[in-house]
Amino acid sequence: MNSSLDKFNRLVDALGELPTIGKKSATRLAYHMVMNDSFVGMKISHAIEDALGSLKKCTCCGGMSEDELCFICSDERRDDSVLCIVENAKDILLLEENGLFDGKYFVLDSLDELHVELLESAIKNGVNEVIFALTPSISNDAVILYIEDKLSDFDLNFSKIAQGVPTGVSLENIDILSLTRALEDRVKV
Ligand SMILES: [Zn+2]
Repeated sequence: MNSSLDKFNRLVDALGELPTIGKKSATRLAYHMVMNDSFVGMKISHAIEDALGSLKKCTCCGGMSEDELCFICSDERRDDSVLCIVENAKDILLLEENGLFDGKYFVLDSLDELHVELLESAIKNGVNEVIFALTPSISNDAVILYIEDKLSDFDLNFSKIAQGVPTGVSLENIDILSLTRALEDRVKV
């Protein structure tokens, strides 16, 4: 092992820690930035630093935000009466990118007391319909039952996306037509 390439190897190792990036891709990316295009390397490095320093969780929905409240929670034109529950903040990006939904969101990335309380306070803002946009699976059906039970004091209609979304496939891997249909044909739960 040539120890004079320590810094290169460290870059490769760091890139390799990212999801979907194997050793081969990491090496190729590192080589590209170091040898072919140091400008793009600098750009990425600054963008990462900038994003990590300024992005946080929205205090209301748990989505990605640069402020206390994200642009969706603070948008008064959006429908306050429908709340869409997603598993990941990135599912919000997916639904937004395609303009599929104009209500509000809630990221349920944990079932602990804190998240349930946050969800309850989101519901208190005049919500009357809750849509579960979770990956269809047996365990998520259990999650839905659990949350419905937790929210039983509220007068709510519950539905979940179903048709067109295959069991066990996460939202980001579903084509947009299927996702649109799934949202439109949501079923009562
Ligand atoms: Zn928000």
